[in-house]
Amino acid sequence: MKFTAKTDGSDPAPARTPFNSSGNIITIRFNLAVATDATLAIDLAGTILHESIHAELHRLKLTNNSGPNPLPASLFNWYMQMWSFYEAINNEDFDDPLDVLNQTAADSQHNLMAFRFIDPIASGLREFDENSYPLDNYKHYVWSDGLDEYGLDAGYITDNELTRLSILSKIVRDDNHKNTCD
Ligand SMILES: [Zn+2]
Repeated sequence: MKFTAKTDGSDPAPARTPFNSSGNIITIRFNLAVATDATLAIDLAGTILHESIHAELHRLKLTNNSGPNPLPASLFNWYMQMWSFYEAINNEDFDDPLDVLNQTAADSQHNLMAFRFIDPIASGLREFDENSYPLDNYKHYVWSDGLDEYGLDAGYITDNELTRLSILSKIVRDDNHKNTCD
């Protein structure tokens, strides 16, 4: 896994982890036009965890769920079913096979993250924040990395719950506690 940076004002994403990385290295590229000095450290930490999970899920797809740390077989099969489901849709929507591949990776992995990775990522952010608040105070930073629309579509979360989590996240944002990178 390799971390790099670009500055691209036309791309709204704070980072991207394309599937078509060459060789055995998966590259995570941060966009310095979006992830600026003013970005809250906990937001950036959430993005790093989100993109790292993309990289790991790329690896599991490429290696057919080989170790270290494979997914449980039932969950990997579910991920592959999501992959096929979105691939059929994206084949209709895109002409370039590379676009189909990257959109299918994004769709299936975001659905999987919304299904199973909200609490683990929130737990990592809570640890990063020196366990200052309960877990719910950190979940907004996970959902808001593009997972909310998948969670709403699939019924993993409701609008009311997202609003509640958003309000709780402001306590983390507005306190006087400084993270290493603030
Ligand atoms: Zn993503």
